[in-house]
Amino acid sequence: MTQHSPSGAKSNALGLNGTRNGRAADTANTVRCIGVHKAYELGGTQVQALRGVDLQITDPGFYAIMGASGSGKSTLLHLLGALDTPDQGTVHVGGKALHELSERDLTNFRRDHIGIVFQQFNLIPTLTARENVELPGMLAGRDGPETRRRAQELLDALGVAPRAGHRPDALSGGEQQRVAIARSLFFSPRILLADEPTGNLDSASSNRLWELLATIARDEATTVLMVTHEPAAAIHCGRVFVLRDGVMHGTIDTEGLDAAGVASRYQHLVRTA
Ligand code: ADP
Ligand code: MG
Repeated sequence: MTQHSPSGAKSNALGLNGTRNGRAADTANTVRCIGVHKAYELGGTQVQALRGVDLQITDPGFYAIMGASGSGKSTLLHLLGALDTPDQGTVHVGGKALHELSERDLTNFRRDHIGIVFQQFNLIPTLTARENVELPGMLAGRDGPETRRRAQELLDALGVAPRAGHRPDALSGGEQQRVAIARSLFFSPRILLADEPTGNLDSASSNRLWELLATIARDEATTVLMVTHEPAAAIHCGRVFVLRDGVMHGTIDTEGLDAAGVASRYQHLVRTA
């Protein structure tokens, strides 16, 4: 599994401040679900998306959630990102029991501790790349040089500084996703959630993005949890959580495995009762 290096042992390839390296262990990187259920109403019938999910992550690193379409991956990520609430069970993120936070505390917690990126990038089309990255600072009322400096630092670190003045429609898919990730890192979240972030990218861009997420996990001591259905993505992750029909069905530790090895473990797991 990818681990962050001991104090000062390794230079920070990402070029961000990297001040977390060597910091004493705390609960800020933890993710824990116990018995999580979630159902949706659809045309008068109930769809059980999650049926008692347990999940535990304690250390920073790059993790994947794999599962067939409809197995509940996005639902789970939404609950972890505090974008929705479970019907039953508890979700702890960064050491906080989400159900115990007030609406206001939850909004601040989400802003300061959780970054989220989606398959569709979700950039504001009328803003430039730079303005999109500045947006979290602006929304927090920080309309000053510090916000501009932070955006520039992120654009540099993610390799999209030369594209800073362009609007999203002038950027490639890979560049748009880098800008979206830069934006999600504005407040240096300890938890980064990504829902099929390479779903709209070609394989070369996808590979670069997985390497980038692995670098963020390592150099910024971040818990990066990515939903994917691609075994080629999963080999960049230390551990894969396999979801089937709304239940956590097993884990794959990827050390020593190539994509074919991950695929065969995955197929075996999802076929096992
Ligand atoms: P995945 O991301 O693994 O494809 P989802 O979490 O999106 O799965 O969906 C799990 C199940 O819940 C699916 O059966 C899906 O159709 C259903 N579902 C998801 N979101 C909604 C919604 N907003 N309304 C109704 N059903 C939903
Ligand atoms: Mg999904």
